[in-house]
Amino acid sequence: HSSKLPNLGTSIFTTMTGLANRYKAINLSQGFPEFDAPVLLKQRLAKYCEQGFNQYAPSCGLAPLQAQIASLTGRIYGTDINPLDTVTVTSGATEALFVAIQTITHPGDEIIIFDPAYDSYEPAIELAGGRAVHIAMLAPDYAINWPLVEAAITEKTRGIIINTPHNPSAKTLKQADFDKLKELVLKHDLLLISDEVYEHITFEGTPHISVLSDAELFARAFVIASFGKTFHCTGWKMGYCIAPEKLTQEFRKIHQYVTFSSFTPAQLALTDMLAEEPEHITALAPFYQHKRDVLVNALQASRFTILPSEGTYFLLLDYSAISQIDDMAFCEYLVKEIGVAAIPLSVFYQTPPGDKVIRLCFAKEDVTLQQAAERLSPL
Ligand code: PMP
Ligand code: GLN
Repeated sequence: HSSKLPNLGTSIFTTMTGLANRYKAINLSQGFPEFDAPVLLKQRLAKYCEQGFNQYAPSCGLAPLQAQIASLTGRIYGTDINPLDTVTVTSGATEALFVAIQTITHPGDEIIIFDPAYDSYEPAIELAGGRAVHIAMLAPDYAINWPLVEAAITEKTRGIIINTPHNPSAKTLKQADFDKLKELVLKHDLLLISDEVYEHITFEGTPHISVLSDAELFARAFVIASFGKTFHCTGWKMGYCIAPEKLTQEFRKIHQYVTFSSFTPAQLALTDMLAEEPEHITALAPFYQHKRDVLVNALQASRFTILPSEGTYFLLLDYSAISQIDDMAFCEYLVKEIGVAAIPLSVFYQTPPGDKVIRLCFAKEDVTLQQAAERLSPL
């Protein structure tokens, strides 16, 4: 039998974390927080398990959690949505992305994605029988070349996947990008999947522009979020998708046969967390801005060129002043010889640009960041 994904190997995150563990390196590769989830969240999870809330939730999610999500987006983006018809709780953003992609992609359809692209988009498109059309964004500014996007649109183009704040480039889309996006989406009657898992992590007052705040874009969009990033609980695999009622109906048809529903005690605990400690979310951006600055300052004397990080918990470094080997080889050298694990950028490109850039995750304790920088600085 033939492979459904013949060109696919193991995810770079599995590979690099495996190497980090094997060589006992400081793991700044796979993105996950080193610090724990908030006490309230953990206590409530334990409480709801203990109290017997251990059976299936409704497939679309528990109504109180849907309501808290709608109240959050109302506060932040000014949305006025009916949560019961538009919010679907999922097992992480990964499931939401997979289901949204299956929902819009028919065999032969083309979906535009931007490289460097998060690694879960393309396999999901291929499994739906579609084809990912890659538009490259390049260092150092990783700007979207909109004329190139328009030139890539054909009669087969069904949708566009955007990601802001962007993993791995750490850039955010600006209003001018949204103006161009809207023009193309309306003119060519496209659907939109907006991966906004880092929505609460932007720096120096850089606004996060959500598709939720634009009624015309939202009318044709799936907006995807992750509690893992927001509440330091990536291992819980909890997220959600917000889409207009008609799109949500189609999304839910598929979601019900991927997982049916997501972890009930976590839904209850997250409901309490959103209701009782909303300040956790507003504190997130300054919290991570401090982490970013600790790492940037500690690397200041090194020969790495530090690229600007406007959001997410990632920082890109250009190592071309240090070495000319390719980025995968450089990351293997770092993890084995220097004791720091990083992610090579080229794996996120269909056609790697050949530049010398790696990604570090700064969702770590300050001392961890300082130790990593001490190892990297003499290079
Ligand atoms: N999209 C992006 C851009 C991400 O960085 C991640 C997490 N690394 C996800 C989606 C998946 O989120 P989750 O862990 O909630 O499935
Ligand atoms: N999103 C995380 C990252 O970018 C990793 C997620 C995963 O391991 N699949 O590093």
